[in-house]
Amino acid sequence: MKPRSAWRASNLGRMSDDCLFCRIVAGEIPATVVHETKTILAFRDIAPQAPVHVVLVPKLHEPHAVALAERAPGELTDLFVAAGEVAVAEGIADSGFRLLFNTGADAGQTVFHAHLHLLGGKPLGALA
Ligand code: 5GP
Ligand code: ZN
Repeated sequence: MKPRSAWRASNLGRMSDDCLFCRIVAGEIPATVVHETKTILAFRDIAPQAPVHVVLVPKLHEPHAVALAERAPGELTDLFVAAGEVAVAEGIADSGFRLLFNTGADAGQTVFHAHLHLLGGKPLGALA
């Protein structure tokens, strides 16, 4: 039998008390919110890597971006649509921007609630 990937074990949608982004969604931890929809919250990254650095999160808790795509594809679409709206609002829709999911330890994922980084406002250079 094929081993099940680790990301398939999570509890989709269950808010986690010890999840930083669930706590931001719940309003328990302050953040500079730039955009909100029924399903998505977008806020400025606390340690910006570019002049515009916004983190977009689904309001439901899912640690892994691929599991989100498998189990709640509408949420994934909502993340990208919201990212486009934020890019327009931030004035970087035409100059260009990077959309990025860090997924797992080697990618440097530090918050295990799937999130989309929106980066722009300067030439970003090639990925490593
Ligand atoms: P990751 O490294 O998991 O892809 O991204 C997590 C991001 O969340 C990092 O870019 C980090 O700077 C950001 N971050 C960590 N803690 C906080 C916080 O308390 N507030 C905000 N707004 N961003 C945070
Ligand atoms: Zn969470």
